[in-house]
Amino acid sequence: MERSPHADRFAEIIGAANVLTAKSDQAPYLTEWRDLYQGVTTMVLRPGSTEEVSAVMTYAYQNNLKVVPQGGNTGLVGGQIPQETGDEIVLSLSRLNKVRAVDPVGFTIIVESGVVLETLQNEAEKVDRLFPLSLGAQGSCQIGGNISTNAGGTSVLAYGNTRDLVLGLEVVLPTGEIWNGLRTLRKDNTGYDLKQLFIGGEGTLGIITAASLKLFPKPKKMEAAFVGLPDPHAALRLFTLAKAQAGPVLTGFEIMPRIGVEFCLSHLDGARDPLEGSHAWYVLMELSSGSDAFPVRDLLEGILGDAFEDGLVEDAAFAQNLSQVQDFWHIRHGMSEVQKAEGGSIKHDVSVPVASIPEFLDKAAAAVEAFVPGCRPVPFGHIGDGNIHFNVSQPVGADKAAYLANWDDMNAIVHGIVQEFGGSISAEHGIGRLKRSLLKEVKADIELDLMQRIKSAFDPKGLLNPERVL
Ligand code: FAD
Ligand code: ZN
Repeated sequence: MERSPHADRFAEIIGAANVLTAKSDQAPYLTEWRDLYQGVTTMVLRPGSTEEVSAVMTYAYQNNLKVVPQGGNTGLVGGQIPQETGDEIVLSLSRLNKVRAVDPVGFTIIVESGVVLETLQNEAEKVDRLFPLSLGAQGSCQIGGNISTNAGGTSVLAYGNTRDLVLGLEVVLPTGEIWNGLRTLRKDNTGYDLKQLFIGGEGTLGIITAASLKLFPKPKKMEAAFVGLPDPHAALRLFTLAKAQAGPVLTGFEIMPRIGVEFCLSHLDGARDPLEGSHAWYVLMELSSGSDAFPVRDLLEGILGDAFEDGLVEDAAFAQNLSQVQDFWHIRHGMSEVQKAEGGSIKHDVSVPVASIPEFLDKAAAAVEAFVPGCRPVPFGHIGDGNIHFNVSQPVGADKAAYLANWDDMNAIVHGIVQEFGGSISAEHGIGRLKRSLLKEVKADIELDLMQRIKSAFDPKGLLNPERVL
């Protein structure tokens, strides 16, 4: 691609080394995790401060240049990848990676948006605090991306979605103006809560450059069990029992099918089967408390004892130390990655009311197996939040491309069942480019119209992350 005449101007603003125009330098920014999108761009810009982001955006706005913000590039709906037309500039937030302030007394932290989630977790730990957001991509996703997608993950049960963890934001608007809303107040009822629009806004309304976030007491005691069960009905009953007995001490509850555990045993380094026998389904259950005095292990054993008596549970392994807790989570967090080794996988990131999960799983599995005989459903995830990653691997030995050609039709089947249960067709990953056409089917006209009006108010020229979400 030809060098854009604007590249020199951007080089003056952020330094020539931070304007990537060579194909080899751009490559990591143009492909994504699922290989569904292959982007094209004239340049990748890597500003190093909020002021530089503002200067870049001011120039881009004046010159009608389209811009795509990118964080850790782990998004699963293509929102961070420039379109194949090549007329969108990638703006990477990776160099905005400073921790600006940590306040263990007020339980808050202020960081720039390019800070990697795992780094943020470690910064909190240094002052004996917890930043609870946790997901499989935490070694590379950035807090700005997490906020823009309102990421969920495995600690939503106890701490909520990313939205629940944000106290304030600093944002560069599509026009280049800076909004400093970096408050750390727990209570603030002064009119519209503008930050909420950027949380989950998928980079369509502004570029998040920094955030003030909530911290929590670091758990002093953590216990986990890897539980074998006959079916999701038993898993749901175990969840109800655990939630009723442990309340907020129940900090994780994830479901996995045998086939997913087998994929991990075959393809994930360091994965070992926690249980001796084989079980059709598994639950990873975690309990934790901020108090040393709380009898967490007794509570966990009590819950599982009751579940055994009720015939819900076939077997359970208790983690004997923190490293075993991590071994259990290693399997759960590896569950997406290992599916790549089994050929094509058609994905659904859906939620239904928690009580409907078993029925949904029965119906959806039967429907996809009827549609593509031999396909292998690998549904797993956050059963405690009613959110299942209903992924379906190709039949053994099938042609990958031919199988993936069923993507839209299989989506329609599964999403139809989701709708019957009053569920959502994007529980965690957002809309981006992948689900843009589906949005019209699930939102009322008035909702779409209001969203369009908000977009126009923030981005009158439609230059920031165009053709994402709306
Ligand atoms: P990117 O992929 O770079 O961007 C995502 C979107 O946000 C794009 O639209 C982009 O334009 C926009 N954006 C990025 N940074 C900014 C910014 N600073 N300002 C404005 N807009 C911005 N998601 C979950 O919710 N729960 C999970 O459990 C989960 N598990 C995952 C496991 C794996 C293995 C992988 C690969 C992904 C997983 N995801 C999960 C999806 C993904 O990790 C999250 O969506 C994550 O929050 C994206 O962060 P990122 O920094 O990689 O953002
Ligand atoms: Zn998830």
